[in-house]
Amino acid sequence: MFNKELGQHILINPLVSQGIVDKANLKQTDIVLEVGPGTGNLTVKILEQAKKVVACEADARLAAELTKRVQGGPFQHKLEILHGDVMKRDLPYFDVCISNTPYQISSPLTFKLIFHRPLFRCAVLMFQREFALRLIARPGDSLYGRLSVNCQLYSKVTHVMKVGKNNFKPPPNVESSVVKIEPLNPPPPVDFEEWDGLVRIAFSRKHKTLAANFKNTAILQMLDENYRTFCASNGLMVEDGFQIKDKILSVLDQLGYSDTRASKMDIHDFLKLLSAFHDANIHFC
Ligand code: SAM
Repeated sequence: MFNKELGQHILINPLVSQGIVDKANLKQTDIVLEVGPGTGNLTVKILEQAKKVVACEADARLAAELTKRVQGGPFQHKLEILHGDVMKRDLPYFDVCISNTPYQISSPLTFKLIFHRPLFRCAVLMFQREFALRLIARPGDSLYGRLSVNCQLYSKVTHVMKVGKNNFKPPPNVESSVVKIEPLNPPPPVDFEEWDGLVRIAFSRKHKTLAANFKNTAILQMLDENYRTFCASNGLMVEDGFQIKDKILSVLDQLGYSDTRASKMDIHDFLKLLSAFHDANIHFC
């Protein structure tokens, strides 16, 4: 009856649904985006508190079931159902996003939301527990990594509650958690591709030192090419015998980061490092 490929695990505990909606602190003027409303257990609770719900559902059968569920009721006029894959469409305007997410799109959906404009107030999202813990992880935590820093660069992420398998039908194989994502307003003025390029290298082996990770031949070659391209397009000379490795190691040394490991660095460390690399004309994309 339920489609596994679409991550259809229906939330059957009304207390959990209510807890999720309450955490969004909805206002009566709010437009809420719900991703994957399914049979509408969360939707009906959101409709009680919001001005409007725009619900995007990939499964036409479930979209029809939800339409029927609200038909003739007091909230019918407040619900708009968009049928299709949320990843393949532009998102409408929304103040708040609420979703018991299909777990296979956790990462792309998170970043689609984070980069959405105008900024929304918050997103309250159910994820697989491990993914949620990666989002909220801090330096030194075992799950701290690229996902944590990329998400925390743009938002405050907090753990809201743990949700056990038996709150769903059918129960998933993994435990779940609800997180709240509140975008930083204004967002930091960072070129994300540059940022992510640096973070990728730093976390390529997250327990190794930065100096060790930057000594990788393929990485040095890529950064050398970027350096030469940057110099050529900015009318700068590349001196004879130039070695990108020496330049990179000198930036790391000057900041005292040579022996630092990405697993212990916070957002400010990465921002400082990116800025020092840019000052030295070293670019990551
Ligand atoms: N919200 C319901 C609940 O809490 O009971 C259902 C949640 S279920 C975990 C995920 C829902 O997302 C399913 O209804 C599924 O059909 C839908 N879905 C899966 N992939 C989707 C996508 N790419 N775009 C939109 N909806 C999707």
